[in-house]
Formats: sequence, structure tokens, C-alpha cells
Amino acid sequence: MSGGIYAALGVRRIINAYGTNTRLSGGLMPPEVMAAMAEASRACVGMHDLQAAACRAIAEATGAEAGIVTSGAAAALLLGAAACMARLDPAAMNRLPDTDGMPDEFVVVRSQRNMYDRALRAAGGRIVEVGIPDRHSGPGVRDASVGEVAEAITPRTAAVYCLAGEATEPPLADVARAAHARGVPVLVDAAAQLPPASNLRRFLAEGADLVCFSGGKAIGGPQASGILAGRRDLVSSALVQMLDLDLPEAQFVAPAEFAPLAQMRFLPHHGIGRSGKAGKEEIVGLIVALRRFVAEDPAERTARWTARLSALCDAVPRAALVPDGAKPGLPILELRFADRAIAERADAALRARTPAVHLDAGRIRRGVLAVNPIALDDADLPLLAAALRECCA
Ligand SMILES: *Cc1c(COP(=O)(O)O)cnc(C)c1O
Repeated sequence: MSGGIYAALGVRRIINAYGTNTRLSGGLMPPEVMAAMAEASRACVGMHDLQAAACRAIAEATGAEAGIVTSGAAAALLLGAAACMARLDPAAMNRLPDTDGMPDEFVVVRSQRNMYDRALRAAGGRIVEVGIPDRHSGPGVRDASVGEVAEAITPRTAAVYCLAGEATEPPLADVARAAHARGVPVLVDAAAQLPPASNLRRFLAEGADLVCFSGGKAIGGPQASGILAGRRDLVSSALVQMLDLDLPEAQFVAPAEFAPLAQMRFLPHHGIGRSGKAGKEEIVGLIVALRRFVAEDPAERTARWTARLSALCDAVPRAALVPDGAKPGLPILELRFADRAIAERADAALRARTPAVHLDAGRIRRGVLAVNPIALDDADLPLLAAALRECCA
């Protein structure tokens, strides 16, 4: 793809071999998704009706009772946190981020703390850490235990928050059992846990009450889109805290997909999530991208990514085509250097080019740079191969 619009704006485009990082503008959208967004931009609809359609599509793809499209996984986390605190109480919704009189604590295993959990505090929540990530020390084998999580749950607890991942401990199913035994929901950040596509259902099946995904990562939707899926009462609460509510109260009718909203004593003000609105173009784009992602045979997706990397592998020295490890079904191309300093010099040289080449630097401590195929444009492969040959020799 030529950098037409970006060149006109004086912005240098990049070759994104890092992956779907938000900082590097996520991934690329299939033409079908772009066409759906353009079409959506040419007619107006009621946003609650469009979210009801998204709810049906997300329920089908995830097995959840309900779902909404948000402006990203971080927005989904903020809204999910707001829902766990305020539930269906409009007075509580209006108070957020002040949490007087409502449960506002999120129990988090210390090893799962991450910079995106800021969204919990942005909603008004407070983080209560448990456990010692001792397995990351030399002799240590332990992390938090389910017992420690259970012990931290009190009447002030809004939810247990979990970061989904390959190395997550304790297992989500055990945490969910402990939380549910104490009447507390579990909110899961699974923003980047795709592929495998089966993860769309897995965390909910393991007991999550709410789960968040990025729309702009492997799903291939708009960069500013995300999914919040889970229990109908909680998703409904999240939706009403994002929707614009500039209408006479009597005119507000909750779609059947969000029926629990009929229980609200009155219509709240614009909610804590109103500043993270999702537009009709993003909602439609996400629905089309999600259906497409679910419909594609995972083996074909892996084959497509493998073909992209194989072309490079043959053209570049010190390259090895290997499974990503953390994400089943994702192949990556590792470029192995003698040590970290040499890898860092190659990385800097690649980023200094025009167009700049960004490789996945997540393994650079081991002297490894990686080409992630998800956000790569096939048309860039010859340019990328030439850059790698020059900078990694
Ligand atoms: C990418 C990511 C997010 C944020 O997703 P956005 O869709 O950009 O808001 C949150 N949590 C984790 C773990 C992520 O990897």
C-alpha cells in the first residue's frame, strides 16, 4: 500500500512486523470490513439498536449472554469495572468515579498487574493486590493461591480482575469458583488473547462473568474497537454507562438484548464511559470483522501467515520459522543474534529506515528479534526482505 493519505499529511508510514500494537496503529483491515464501515457511514441509525445487533453477533461468536462494541479493550475494561460497581443502580452510575456506598475493590493477583489495569481505577475502582510472584525469582515456584484470592474478597469487593494469558496462575476456573462462592463476578482482560479463535469462548466457559477483547488486533476490525461480552445484567449496565442519553426519559426503551435496563429506577445521566463512545462505523466494522474471523478455518489462517513468513525466511540469514509459543496457531520468524547489544543495533537500524521497519522486540533480552505476520502487508514483503538482509547481516 502506498502511503498516499499519510504522505499528504506529512506522516511517514511504517512496515509493521511488530504485531498489532496500538502504538503502531494496530493491524490492517480486510477490504470487506472497510467496505462495511464506508456503507455504515452513509446512513443513520439508533445507537441502541445497532448495539443490540452487535450483541447478537457477539453472543453467537463467544457464547456469551450479551455483548457490546466499545472503543477498545481498555474502554471495555473501564465499562466492565463500572458495571461491576454500579450494577443497575442509576444513582450509583451517576456517582462514578466517586464510589461512596458501593463496592469498589478489584482483587488482582499481583503477577497479573499491568499498565492496562489503569482502566479499573479510571472508573473509580481500587486495586487490592494478593500473592507474591515468587515463581519469577530464582528458586521460587509459587504465585498467588486461590485461597489468598478468596480471603481478599469482602463486602467491599466489586469483582476479581484477571489478566488472561498462557502463564496465568491460579487457573481462571478455580478463581471463578472461589469468586462465585462469595457472590462476586470475575472480569477478564483477554485483549490480545487471539489467536486461537477458541479463546473467544474459553474464558467465559471457564467462568468469567465479563471478558474484554481488542477489535483492532487479530480480529482485524477497526483500531478503535473492542468487545465487552458476558452476563446480560452486567453488559447492559456497561452499555447504558456508554450510550448518549440525551433523550426524554419516557422515550428510552431498552432493546430486548439489554432487558435488565428496564429494572433501573430512573434513567441515569451520561455515564462514566460516555467519553469512550464507539461510532456506528466501528460497530459495523467490528461485527463484520468478528464474523469473518470466526468463519476462517484456523488452519487456513495459520497457513496464510506461514506462507507470508516463509517467503522472508528463504531470503534472510539467521532466520528461523517457529511457533510463537504463547499464541497457538501463530507462527513467527525469529532472527537470532549473538547477544542483546547486537540485536538492539539491528533493531535501531531498521527503525531508522524509510519506511521504518518495526520488529517484535519482546525477546530482545535473549538477542532475538521477531517478525510477526499479523499486521504485515504482503505488498511490503520484498521491501522488508531487503531491509532485513541489509540490517541483520
Ligand atoms: C492491547 C491491550 C489492551 C488495550 O486494548 P485496546 O483495544 O487498544 O484498548 C488491554 N490489555 C491488554 C493485555 C492488551 O494487550
